[in-house]
Amino acid sequence: MRQFFAGDKLQVGSRYYFDRNQSHHIGDVLRMKNDDEVRIVDCDSRAFTGRLFFENGKVGVTLMYENEGFEEPSVICVAALIKKEKWELMIQKACELGATRVVPLITRRTIIRLDEKEISRKLERWNKIAVEACQQCNRTTVCVVERPAVINQLDKYKQEVNLVAYENEDEVRLRDVLDSDRITFVVGPEGGFEKEEVNKLNDMGFVSVSLGNRILRAETATMFILSVIEGLR
Ligand code: SAM
Repeated sequence: MRQFFAGDKLQVGSRYYFDRNQSHHIGDVLRMKNDDEVRIVDCDSRAFTGRLFFENGKVGVTLMYENEGFEEPSVICVAALIKKEKWELMIQKACELGATRVVPLITRRTIIRLDEKEISRKLERWNKIAVEACQQCNRTTVCVVERPAVINQLDKYKQEVNLVAYENEDEVRLRDVLDSDRITFVVGPEGGFEKEEVNKLNDMGFVSVSLGNRILRAETATMFILSVIEGLR
């Protein structure tokens, strides 16, 4: 069943009208018809099932009943910005694998540098990728891509468990530290972290953790961590 996000609070029996983009997507791209059943998630992450209707060129849905919700863990992925294609793939996979938020991180070896104007434009694109990925995998919560941050700004993203993936860590393994479903983890860029950056993160309470003996690409490391978290739930 197709799923769509609504920007408002919804209630059973009410009618919700989609915006122009969604109406075009539903009617012209997906070629859906009157009375087709869809899932719709409101701004409070409550999921409903409804029936489509087409009226004066607009597409709407009549909400029939509310679906059983499920509490998702809170997983914040702080990932150093990497090259465009891999970065956008990483956002999409992070959404599919349950990330609640993605925080782009600027480190000493981050190759990508963005000015204020570019950041706003990029954020719009990144969050569009995130909404589409969450819609496609039927999530009831939308993963949000935050404004880029530097290491000193990461305190506000800390949760019960805070990790930094560090390939030179040879004691602590991921399985030793995942005893919560409120986790924040940090992954470095293509060139890795500088030792001082890892020390700073350790001082801030981010525990260094090894992902095994192989050196993973940054995007792979992110997907690996999210997969392990999801697999242990
Ligand atoms: N230092 C790496 C190298 O020698 O090629 C470059 C960094 S790696 C491509 C990108 C990031 O993925 C690292 O900064 C780290 O956060 C994470 N990572 C990759 N493999 C890892 C491993 N085996 N254990 C922990 N973290 C890893």
